[in-house]
Amino acid sequence: MGYLKQIDIENFKSWRGKQIIGPFMRFNCIIGTNGSGKSNIMDALSFAMGERVVYLRVKHLKDLIHGAHIGQPVSDTASVAMRYCNDEDEETVFCRSIIGDSSDYWINGQHVTFAKYTEELEKIGIVTKARNCLVFQGTVECIALKDPKERTKMFESISQSREYAAEYDRKKAALLKA
Ligand code: ATP
Ligand code: MG
Repeated sequence: MGYLKQIDIENFKSWRGKQIIGPFMRFNCIIGTNGSGKSNIMDALSFAMGERVVYLRVKHLKDLIHGAHIGQPVSDTASVAMRYCNDEDEETVFCRSIIGDSSDYWINGQHVTFAKYTEELEKIGIVTKARNCLVFQGTVECIALKDPKERTKMFESISQSREYAAEYDRKKAALLKA
């Protein structure tokens, strides 16, 4: 199983200019005082994983640009690149950039469509539409309070085991009949 090695950020939320976060280990813990930017790291990751703007704590993509929260964006562009390493230590760089209010997607420096981007992310187990398994601040309680069936559905969707559910039920029924 691969891991996230580093995040390269430019003008995204609390980071002005080009900045590097990492290198990361396979397990990481981020600590810091209130308002220091912990959740912004999760926003940056979610953004690079193709997350929709509504889940990034802003109204418009352009609000993600450094300084935009006080009406003084430092640029009209921002980007976040995730450096992913597989077990053979081969690196893939998934990068999402914004210009104004539209996004561009890049894999290893090559411009790709959103469909291709999410397809390649799925190959390493990141499912954009399943919200990437990130549990955001305030959502722990919401997940804990879900009806058990709903919670199971959520985990099945994240782990992608849901697509095998019908086949599983079919085989189970056949076994019970035999
Ligand atoms: P808490 O412990 O309270 O959850 P946190 O460490 O998660 O705090 P974040 O929410 O990640 O903090 O960061 C908040 C900070 O991000 C604020 O200080 C805010 O000024 C800054 N910020 C948010 N958007 C932008 C932006 N577009 N440009 C610059 N700074 C920004
Ligand atoms: Mg926070």
